[in-house]
Amino acid sequence: MPARAGGSAKQVVIEMANAETVNLLDFDAAGLVAYCASLNEKPFRAKQLERWIHQFGAADFDGMTDLAKSLREKLHTRASIVAPAIVSDHISSDGTRKWLVDVGNGNAVETVYIPEETRGTLCVSSQAGCAVNCRFCSTGKQGFNRNLTTAEIIGQLWMAEHTLRRSIGAGGGRGEADQRVITNVVMMGMGEPLLNFDALIPALRLMLDDNAYGLSRRRVTVSTSGVVPMMDRLGAEVPVALAVSLHAPNDALRDELVPLNRKYPLRELMAACRRYLTVAPRDFITFEYCMLDGVNDTDAHARELIALTRDVPCKLNLIPFNPFPESGLLRSKNERIKAFAQILMDAGLVTTIRKTRGDDIDAACGQLAGEVKDRTRLSQRTQRTQRQIQGGKIIEVRPV
Ligand code: SAH
Ligand code: SF4
Repeated sequence: MPARAGGSAKQVVIEMANAETVNLLDFDAAGLVAYCASLNEKPFRAKQLERWIHQFGAADFDGMTDLAKSLREKLHTRASIVAPAIVSDHISSDGTRKWLVDVGNGNAVETVYIPEETRGTLCVSSQAGCAVNCRFCSTGKQGFNRNLTTAEIIGQLWMAEHTLRRSIGAGGGRGEADQRVITNVVMMGMGEPLLNFDALIPALRLMLDDNAYGLSRRRVTVSTSGVVPMMDRLGAEVPVALAVSLHAPNDALRDELVPLNRKYPLRELMAACRRYLTVAPRDFITFEYCMLDGVNDTDAHARELIALTRDVPCKLNLIPFNPFPESGLLRSKNERIKAFAQILMDAGLVTTIRKTRGDDIDAACGQLAGEVKDRTRLSQRTQRTQRQIQGGKIIEVRPV
């Protein structure tokens, strides 16, 4: 259970301190201060702990040499630093790397690292499965299993950042915090982050915290299918960059594609976007629009989209649909996507077409289907040559 916002962190910490051991990955800075107070330790100890855990990737207390021995002994018996275990680790031919991580009870979620020339982006999951059940999304097709804890959300960044540092030889010892590999985080993995708000918020705070990952608000993006009340709360508590998964320019079509639209229709969603912009770190909202052949990709849809977004400063990100077996949907043709984009651009809308990354390892948008019981299906689908990590080494795997 995460330390909650709004002054209740202390209470949560005390409840946890009474339990057997607490996982320190569950705490943001305030949570660590409260935890240290429950051990009669001063706040500066919390800062030291936070730096050891998140900046230097410490997983045990022995190496925390500037903590008093008595404190290390206390922590040994009462606390742990445990990220979700890695079930598998694949590297795509384009360098995209996907981890499947175990979140208990037969569930696993996926974390994807996307290296680019000037940045490294980590795509983080927030739930095992998803209740929103968008028609074009393989995570939604699995149904909802459970919310991840703060430790499981931030644990994906902790694991990825420190694993990547080790693999590029930057690991080991203090002083490496400025050799950050992950420069951007997008909450675009499995699940609807705003339907797991209480666990999300401390994880976002850690991403931004200079004693943890020190990312700027502009480089942390929450993507939502449009949970309107929670968009307001996010803006009030941790206003990071916001992406809204639009996918349709009118309610009738959006009701079909994103069932949450029946609860929060487009008029309310657009109003929430405008409110968010008053506190957002960027002066635009990113609208994501998955291009589905013959469903939402006509010239008329483009014109409706222009009208819909007229009063919301925004950028449009067109995502070529990534098919998966049960969807029954097709990706719009490249020419259609370009023509659609051109109509938007001619109307002055900043529009990008997302480059598909990692599709040879099923790591592309909407292909994340990480439940452990699905693993056989995943491996059947992945028939192309790929690189895998085994025993710390990268090996080539070819289908027979
Ligand atoms: N639940 C959140 C975040 C996770 S999905 C949301 O819906 O925004 C991240 C992005 O991938 C969303 O824009 C989502 O609509 C898109 N997506 C889902 N399935 C897809 C698919 N099969 N092909 C392309 N994009 C997809
Ligand atoms: Fe859930 Fe997002 Fe997938 Fe929709 S697109 S089912 S909200 S994860």
